[in-house]
Amino acid sequence: MGKALIIGCGGVASVAIHKCCQNSEVFEEICIASRTKSKCDALKEKLEGTTKTKITTEQVDADKFDEVCALIKKVQPDVVMNIALPYQDLTIMDACLACGVNYMDTANYEPENLDDPAWKAAYEKRCKEEGFSAYFDYSWQWAYMDKFKEAGLTALLGSGFDPGVTQVFCAYAQKHLFDEIHTIDILDCNGGDHGYPFATNFNPEINLREVSAPGSYWENGHWVEIPAMSIHREYDFDGVGHKDMYLLHHEEIESLAKNIPGVKRIRFFMTFGQSYLTHMKCLENVGMLSTTPIEYEGREIVPIQFLKALLPDPASLGPRTVGKTNIGCIFTGVKDGKEKTAYIYNICDHQECYREVGSQAISYTTGVPAMIGGMMLMTGTWAKPGVYTAEEFDPDSYMDALNKWGLPWNVVENPVLVD
Ligand code: NDP
Repeated sequence: MGKALIIGCGGVASVAIHKCCQNSEVFEEICIASRTKSKCDALKEKLEGTTKTKITTEQVDADKFDEVCALIKKVQPDVVMNIALPYQDLTIMDACLACGVNYMDTANYEPENLDDPAWKAAYEKRCKEEGFSAYFDYSWQWAYMDKFKEAGLTALLGSGFDPGVTQVFCAYAQKHLFDEIHTIDILDCNGGDHGYPFATNFNPEINLREVSAPGSYWENGHWVEIPAMSIHREYDFDGVGHKDMYLLHHEEIESLAKNIPGVKRIRFFMTFGQSYLTHMKCLENVGMLSTTPIEYEGREIVPIQFLKALLPDPASLGPRTVGKTNIGCIFTGVKDGKEKTAYIYNICDHQECYREVGSQAISYTTGVPAMIGGMMLMTGTWAKPGVYTAEEFDPDSYMDALNKWGLPWNVVENPVLVD
């Protein structure tokens, strides 16, 4: 079928690359390009001989537009899969536009430097206008809508699990299960245990920024913001059992509020153990989550980046993590004039993922949808010039692909609701 340029070679990209190599009919050729080329070479060496997909590697600093453009011109891909960090989203989108190639990523843009005055001014304006204060939002990437339309190119934003699959679940519920969706609760449960007192399951900097921020939810046409971790519920998850979960702000709420007509409330909950929360609070209190550089012995260091260097590499958690994840959406609404509730979710086992691709389930549940998103664009199944999130496309092929490529889903009617 074609060639993908995959930028990034961390925990999530590694799974996506394994899955592309299982799907050689679509991904005949991939180029893995990242900041540290040795990681790309090591993965190529591991996979070559096990796959028909032809693999090449390149070094790139994806913060540099000229470098990404030169790379795209050299590789000539059909799609660029950005599985680096959200910091690189805009540079890579600019390069895709300049070179005429479709784009996808797994997380929406946020700046690396939160002290940048131009970004800060736009951020403060958005906080006032919209009413939520997360550092990430879709506005930066939605601003590319007309440029992608004019170029006849598709940008698919956020094709991981959440965002990504959760929005495909919403599109599926809208198409097949409900005439009107009234409420959506997205529940992200990680019942895995890696045995460390504290570690993050994906990039620590991105993860800790997300969970230490104020929570927020969408209700009756506007955002309601709450102090971090101040709304707590308990839920009995299929395959996992009882877990404490906390309301967080999450990026897909922003797009779902626009794209699910008539929705009255959207919330996102994630499970956390007490040890994780205590460590995080302590690190926050002593300033270790700060992104503002400090002088230390004549050198400038960014506290959260120093912390990242101390914490276990998320990619190393695979062999030690046992247990399951359960991620999905609970819907309430109306079908054929009657009130209805439904729950769509996937259960994923950490050890099974490790056996298959050498990674734990958090990377797996993100990397598989990243491959599927790339496949949707490569095959033209999802082709619509402009910049879109996953719920804006027909969900059926994506839902089939989830079953086929390792993330089977269940639909349950009349689930226990979250109060
Ligand atoms: P990692 O930190 O493990 O990997 C990031 C990769 O990007 C590394 O290979 C890194 O290179 C590379 N990279 C970073 N900066 C640059 C740059 N300037 N130029 C080129 N390459 C660069 O992160 P994860 O794999 O955990 O996460 C990847 C993405 O997935 C993130 O955007 C994250 O937010 C998103 N995500 C989405 C989820 C979802 O469900 N939608 C869930 C989890 C994560 P190096 O090796 O040199 O550091």
